[in-house]
Amino acid sequence: MKTYDLVIVGGGVCGMTAAVYAARASLSACILEKDVCGGLVNWTHTVENFPSHKSIHGMDLMSLCREQVEELGVSIEEVEDVERVDFSGAEKRLFTSSGEEYTAGAVIVATGRKPRPLPVQTSFERVHYCSVCDGAAYRGKNVIVIGGGNSGFDESLYLTGLGVSHVHIVEAFPTCIAAASTQDKARAGGKISVSVSTELVSVAALPDGRGRVLLRNTATGAEDVEETDGIFCFIGQSPNTRPFEGELDLKDGYIRVNADMETRIPGVFAAGDVIVKKWRQITTAMGDATIAALQAEKYLRAMK
Ligand SMILES: Cc1cc2nc3c(=O)[nH]c(=O)nc-3n(C[C@H](O)[C@H](O)[C@H](O)COP(=O)(O)OP(=O)(O)OC[C@H]3O[C@@H](n4cnc5c(N)ncnc54)[C@H](O)[C@@H]3O)c2cc1C
Repeated sequence: MKTYDLVIVGGGVCGMTAAVYAARASLSACILEKDVCGGLVNWTHTVENFPSHKSIHGMDLMSLCREQVEELGVSIEEVEDVERVDFSGAEKRLFTSSGEEYTAGAVIVATGRKPRPLPVQTSFERVHYCSVCDGAAYRGKNVIVIGGGNSGFDESLYLTGLGVSHVHIVEAFPTCIAAASTQDKARAGGKISVSVSTELVSVAALPDGRGRVLLRNTATGAEDVEETDGIFCFIGQSPNTRPFEGELDLKDGYIRVNADMETRIPGVFAAGDVIVKKWRQITTAMGDATIAALQAEKYLRAMK
């Protein structure tokens, strides 16, 4: 069993920001991260709205955060998935995939969100959720992007920039909700085509490794078959809150907090993309984390 003043679940930008504040408040703190630190920002090729960096690769920004957290002496436990928690006592207990138990006087939940999966079952293996991670394999090839939101269009532009020959964006609704300027840029390049009112019906794996995709026009019912080298799916995100079901108050899977980032359990705070809120950005996650960490320090001080 490992014991800290504060355990932070999730090592995205929110968790790492909370860690900086915790360390500066002289709390013994630990980040439990199921993958590697950085979270969703690691998947973002260019961040252009982070004050101090006009343009920076998401992974580079997260490396800088991590460096600072490490220098401040916060423990980082990676590949440590929090599977179950017990928040019933004054000492909060967290149980991880490695079989370890962590206890802490206070906890900050900063588990963020994960991409929604492709809406059909398929044995086709070339289905991806991150063009930064997987796009380079499709240079000179054709791919289908599911989802005509900002992510779908941004990622399509990134893919064609990488050298993907053609991207077909498929959107189920009659219009795409991506920013008009991004849509204009995508349509102007000649390498991106867009089908609206079009739903994905099925995907079959072909013997040559490609996929055969069946699409249906939701207005006319007309069906179309298309062969593709790969599929990238950007149809939104869902919160990572399964370990907290039954413990914390959730709304549509997101954690309810008050303005001080307090959950319904004293000593348990939540922050970042995982909470009920309107704007999910790097800077808003950092703001939430700041409040959560300062409140956690205040809570721990009062408990002593
Ligand atoms: C494609 C895309 C592009 C974006 N571009 C921008 C942009 O340009 N600018 C901007 O400001 N924002 C952007 N955003 C939004 C921004 O990425 C998020 O708001 C931000 O990452 C939220 O940080 P977070 O730490 O709350 O969550 P996350 O970044 O999701 O981090 C959560 C972390 O928790 C970990 N975790 C989850 N469950 C567990 C568990 N059970 N145990 C242990 N660890 C767990 C995850 O592995 C992850 O590392 C973008 C989002 C997407 C999807």
